[in-house]
Amino acid sequence: VPVQSEASLVPVIHDGDKFTATSGGEPKLEKATFVMLVRNSEVHDARSSIRYVEDRFNKNFHYPWLFINDEPFSSNFVKMTRNLVSGNATYGVVPKEAWSMPNWIDRQKAEECMKTMESHKIPYGGMESYRHMCRFFSGFFYRHELLADYDYYWRVEPNTQLYCDITYDPFTFMREKNKTYGFTITLHEHESTIETLWPTVQNFSRAHPEHIHPNNALDFIVDDQKNITEGSYNLCHFWSNFEIASLKFFRSQAYGDFFDALDRSGGFFYERWGDAPVHSIAAALLVDKAELHWFYDVGYRHQDYMHCPEPLAEFHDSGKCYCNPDNNVDSSSHSCTKEYRRMRGDSGEQ
Ligand code: GDP
Ligand code: MN
Repeated sequence: VPVQSEASLVPVIHDGDKFTATSGGEPKLEKATFVMLVRNSEVHDARSSIRYVEDRFNKNFHYPWLFINDEPFSSNFVKMTRNLVSGNATYGVVPKEAWSMPNWIDRQKAEECMKTMESHKIPYGGMESYRHMCRFFSGFFYRHELLADYDYYWRVEPNTQLYCDITYDPFTFMREKNKTYGFTITLHEHESTIETLWPTVQNFSRAHPEHIHPNNALDFIVDDQKNITEGSYNLCHFWSNFEIASLKFFRSQAYGDFFDALDRSGGFFYERWGDAPVHSIAAALLVDKAELHWFYDVGYRHQDYMHCPEPLAEFHDSGKCYCNPDNNVDSSSHSCTKEYRRMRGDSGEQ
């Protein structure tokens, strides 16, 4: 059962009275939630991320938080996080089948692949749990029963920072503007982790041409105006540790067929396919490019990469943001800002 059964851990409902301060009443919430997959050992990095999201946005909205773990959350984790959130907090576990090698995977072969990738010093190349995490985000989180009532999610990772006030509801924005996938940072993937991903996508596009959207964003992920079959993947992806996206999209027939084709090929285990390129290629091919949204106004950092909105006059003078634009990843060679703007066909930011 994916919901933790211990009485003290089942849906933690906050005392709503504490938070009904706004004079015009509570804003009407979308069917949306934060989602954080996290280990018990990351409790303090998780607390930091929660604090940023609450301070910059959620203290005025009180969206619920959903914490998911491949093992039961400790009472310490629950205690240390539940009092930081201004909406309900729910703690769930990943169902076993969403965190295991499926039966068509040759475990011995997978283990050999991991050893080889480890010896080549490929990031997380030797780690089986990292592969389960990537496969979970690629094909399972949106089917978790605790997400069943929601249309949108905002993914939050431990150890992330937000640098700008978010004074509007991004979920309402997504719904009203008919957006499907929102991001803050684009990067190039390590090629050694996804050697056969693109050929697998090409096969999928031949088997399911009906799923490829006629007004797709192929130009973001393939250079030189080539088509899916003739082009090669330029490694550009949306960095998926921050995502605000539509669950209906992930639950669609198109995405389901896409994930199944990838999963059957074994690349989550024989290679080390990340959920970022998987989500990004799907978002680029299966929906109208107008449904993608760059949350340019969200100053965000995770580990080495930061997106800081510019110019100062627009985003900083008012006190809205406080990051240092000199450290903006957008202008670095790691970023795919150039490719994104090319795909958008303008120099616009979103
Ligand atoms: P990176 O950002 O690619 O370096 O990967 P992370 O180690 O940050 O993992 C991505 C997300 O998955 C984070 O939210 C982690 O907390 C979570 N995660 C990764 N591995 C595990 C795991 O084995 N168990 C659980 N519960 N969460 C994990
Ligand atoms: Mn991370």
